[in-house]
Amino acid sequence: MGGECRVGVVVLGLVGSVTGLSTPTMRLRVERNANFGKLQGGYLFPEIGRRRRAFAEAQPELAERVISLGIGDTTQPIPPNILEGLVSGASKLGTSDGYSGYGAEQGNAELRSRIAERVYGGRVGAEEVFVSDGAKCDISRLQLMFGSAVTSAVQDPSYPVYVDTSVMMGQTGEVGPAGQFEKLVYMPCKPENEFFPELSETPRADVIYFCSPNNPTGAVATKAQLESLVERARADGSIVVFDAAYAPFIRTPGVPKSIFEIEGARECAIEVNSFSKYAGFTGVRLGWTVVPDTLEYADGSKVRDDFNRVMTTAFNGASNVVQSGGMACLTDEGMEEIDALIDYYLGNAQILRGLADDLGLRHCGGIDSPYVFLDLDGRSSWDTFSAILEEAQVVTIPGAGFGPGGEGFLRLSAFASRASCEEARARISKLTHLFA
Ligand SMILES: *Cc1c(COP(=O)(O)O)cnc(C)c1O
Repeated sequence: MGGECRVGVVVLGLVGSVTGLSTPTMRLRVERNANFGKLQGGYLFPEIGRRRRAFAEAQPELAERVISLGIGDTTQPIPPNILEGLVSGASKLGTSDGYSGYGAEQGNAELRSRIAERVYGGRVGAEEVFVSDGAKCDISRLQLMFGSAVTSAVQDPSYPVYVDTSVMMGQTGEVGPAGQFEKLVYMPCKPENEFFPELSETPRADVIYFCSPNNPTGAVATKAQLESLVERARADGSIVVFDAAYAPFIRTPGVPKSIFEIEGARECAIEVNSFSKYAGFTGVRLGWTVVPDTLEYADGSKVRDDFNRVMTTAFNGASNVVQSGGMACLTDEGMEEIDALIDYYLGNAQILRGLADDLGLRHCGGIDSPYVFLDLDGRSSWDTFSAILEEAQVVTIPGAGFGPGGEGFLRLSAFASRASCEEARARISKLTHLFA
């Protein structure tokens, strides 16, 4: 009898799971991580996507005309030699000689030394390079290492990841009325300071996030500026996390492509970098972080040892297929292909700078950088974003999405086709009434 009863229960359970029914009174007794409640709105790009879809639904006849100069995602195909690296990496896995399983968590030794040699000209050692699935992921893992007790400083406006990961880690308080988180140091970057922070007015922080060429402002720090940043970090005993994701866009001689071109940086800086914008690897996923052996915490322990611990615990090495693609990027042929890709995007940036001139708007970037940051001269960035979407069917990014310091600016991205950039310029330059 008891047996029959149990069969009945099993059947009911199956019906429940198939139809997706669940007991309505079930409630988790797990408290939400309060830091997630502090985060502001959605992440910027989903909000842009939501507005774009809402526009397409409201005006379906115009939906096909939409051009995106928005999200900083590459659009041009991966060039042949680099692609061959990816393909041969995959093919090898189908042979008994070429097959490999888990690799070193820090990355393929040959790729690490090629990065050290070809990207850094030997300024850093192969054992200081940690290969990863991307710079954004590395920023999160650096935060895991720094923990919740540090104070962080960010440029304002900035790439949202530095702020949001600092909040998630519990380094900050709540967001205040001006849109700034308590206990996070904001370093305003604006036309008055040529988008480089006034370091003398900046309170000390343990970790300083700095991005050059900058997303979103397009500003590129000069050697003298980076020297002053390193000097300040050394004086304060702080760590600079230097984001060099756009380094290969730098074509002007004398402009540093790495923080390690600056004397004294090896004792105070970490660099995150990525093949995403170099080689169109945004979907492929490959990046790296350099942690110098000479970087030591207050107790004399090596930062590199802790980062190694994070990588061996919370990461299991970048994909072997993808690392084979990374190797191909750093051959002579691959580097020529990267140069050609970047020339193409820089040509687009030139067109977008021309658009700023057409409209008579001040702007930053577009030289040594894929981003042009339009100064809207006090106009609202979300209003201008919406007006350009509705009247010209072009998606841009409102500066306010990058922090309170971005209000009054609009970011244009050169990661589009040449034809899209020309068409966007033609359409937007007619909207003079928006900027009169
Ligand atoms: C695109 C971008 C990256 C690259 O991130 P991945 O995770 O490597 O794709 C890093 N930093 C900034 C500022 C970026 O804009």
